[in-house]
Formats: sequence, C-alpha cells, structure tokens
Amino acid sequence: MPSSPLAPGATIGILGTGQLGRMLAMAAARLGFRVETFGPEQDPPAAHAAAAHMSADYEDEGALGAFAQNVDVATYEFENIPTKTVSILKAAGVPVRPDERVLAVCQDRLEEKRYFEKAGVPTAPIWPVENAEDLAAAMREAAGPAILKTRRFGYDGKGQVRLKPGDDPKAAFEACGGVPSILEGFVDFDFEVSLIAARGLGGYAAFFDIPRNTHRDGILHQSHFPSGLPKEAVDIAHRTAKAILDDLSYVGVLTIEFFWSKASGLIANEMAPRVHNSGHWTVEACDTSQFEQHIRAVAGWPLGRPRRHSDGVMTNLIGAEAGDWPALSAEPGLALTLYGKGEARPGRKMGHTVVLTAQSP
Ligand code: AMP
Repeated sequence: MPSSPLAPGATIGILGTGQLGRMLAMAAARLGFRVETFGPEQDPPAAHAAAAHMSADYEDEGALGAFAQNVDVATYEFENIPTKTVSILKAAGVPVRPDERVLAVCQDRLEEKRYFEKAGVPTAPIWPVENAEDLAAAMREAAGPAILKTRRFGYDGKGQVRLKPGDDPKAAFEACGGVPSILEGFVDFDFEVSLIAARGLGGYAAFFDIPRNTHRDGILHQSHFPSGLPKEAVDIAHRTAKAILDDLSYVGVLTIEFFWSKASGLIANEMAPRVHNSGHWTVEACDTSQFEQHIRAVAGWPLGRPRRHSDGVMTNLIGAEAGDWPALSAEPGLALTLYGKGEARPGRKMGHTVVLTAQSP
C-alpha cells in the first residue's frame, strides 16, 4: 500500500452516492482531487459533484475492475457496502480506506455491541433474538421497556419496534420483519451526543467538538454545538474513540453515537465508519470540515485542525421541508445546503441548514 500522500489531480473513488458522498466529493474537489462515484443509481446526488460516475451493482466484478483502473484510492460513504466489493478493489491493487474490518462490525448490531463490550465501552443490555421464543425470553429478562432492532440494514429508526412488558412478542418479531434481531434495554438518557473522530494514515487522531443531537420520528432533527457534555465525559469519549481507531488501524472519519445521563454517564449506541449527519455543521463552524478531514485521511495527507470557532445549530430538512428553500435562501446568516434529490418523499433527507451564533466564552 503506498503510504506517500496522494498528489492533487489523483482520483478518489467513492462507494455510495448519497448526500454524504456528494459533500465528500465537494471537499475532495476543493483540494484538487478528481472523484469518481460508484453505486447502482443512474443519476444520484453524489454524482452531480463528481468528475465521473459508474452506475453498477456493488458486486459487479467487471464494473469494479474498470473502476479500479480509474481510481488511486477508494473510500465509502455508507456502511452497507458489501465487504466483497472492498475485497475485489483491494485485489485489483486499490487501497480502500478505512479497511473493511470495520464494515463487519458496523453492518451487524450484534457484532457492534459485542465489539463495544470487548473494548470495555458501556452499552445498553442486549439479547440476541432469532425467533419469537427468543424475544419472549429476552422480554422477560429485560423486565421493562426495550427496543427490538434488526441486526442488519436498520437506519433512521427503521427496523425498530419499541416494546413494553405485556406486548406480544410474536407480533413484534413479525413487525420487525421476522429477521435476526437484538432486543435492547431502553436507556433513560438526558440527551444524545455523537463523537466524530478521524485517524490519519500515520496513526494521528483528531476529534471534532461533540454535538448534542435531537431526533424526530427516529430521524436526526437537530445538532446543537456546543453540547453541554461535561469535560470528564468528553475525555472518556475521546479515549474510547482513540482505542477503537487504533484497534481497527482505522484511516478516515469514524462516528460514535452515545446516550448521556448524569446518572449513568456515556453509553454507546452505535458507530458509523464514515462522515455523519450530526457533523454537517463542521463545514460552517470549524477550521476543517468532517468531509475535508476524511478526504485528507484517505489521501494520506496530514489531518486538518478541527477547531470549532462558532456556536450554532444544524437542522435537517426532511421531505417537503426543503420546499421552503425560497424563504430559507433569503434568511441572512443561514447557510442552506440542498442535496439535489428529485423527489421529496416523507422521511427523506433533502438538505440541511446551519445557523451560527457567537461562541460562548
Ligand atoms: P438507532 O437506529 O439505534 O440510532 O436508534 C434511533 C434512535 O432511537 C436513537 O437515536 C435514540 O433516540 C432511540 N434509541 C435507540 N436505542 C435506544 C435505547 N436502547 N434506549 C433509548 N432510546 C433508544
């Protein structure tokens, strides 16, 4: 694997083509790189900001072979990229950053929770669930409110059912798709935060300031910065992330979501091997954005300074909310980002706004 920094003019391949890929492509272009995106859609949001797009299935070996010829390094913008895709690219001589080891952890909630446990990171109590009988037994043990989550392909609250004692396990298991799942004890938290961290090729790590996140209907609604998380908890989050980044020989941006309460401290919920919706504000409020940081890491460049210079709030525009763009675009001091998605389906992330305020002392 070449470890010298990638020179401007080189091509970075991005697997996945949503808004995260789009914003990564914009950051890469700013640093002088070409981007080629890869994914099944014909005309996706990320392709609008890239020099080229290859539309093919993630396991299409011929297309991946051609993509490998075009790119100098590859990365991904979502965690459900098949590990086979990464193996094919690596076999063709393309470095893929971060390494696919993290995909196996992040694609399966049970593996992820076991990984946290092994790393000594507190999580909610969990029970593996293969069928309705397992769920009935797990609900008895949980003996309180809990959440059934599919092990794979859950996001934005999808593939989840909230349960309380007395609910019918059979109906709940079926409502969740009848697929391998986990039951998670309900965490009584004060608020939710996320740590967005980066590790460069040389092993150096940098952390963005931690935002406090609020959700609506299971979808991120706002990220507020600063979070108000006590300093001791911030230190624990940094130590946790550093240990995980080093353990995985990670290169790129990694996000860990935590619940926080005064009573129980930080409890890890999940992690994402990528830039994150709760870090979009880093574009406006930090010296280096999460997108540039990821591109710097993947290209083997020194990490940028993540210093936050303003307070503020990021608000997602979901579904029809993005239709307010004429009014939003006229608001002084509001930064509007739209993802170039055609249809504003309910629950679909269409864009976001960032409003900065002066930094509190
Ligand atoms: P997830 O898909 O795991 O990120 O869950 C989506 C949202 O559901 C989280 O951001 C929380 O607001 C809530 N949630 C998930 N798991 C739990 C839990 N064990 N206890 C309480 N709330 C949860």
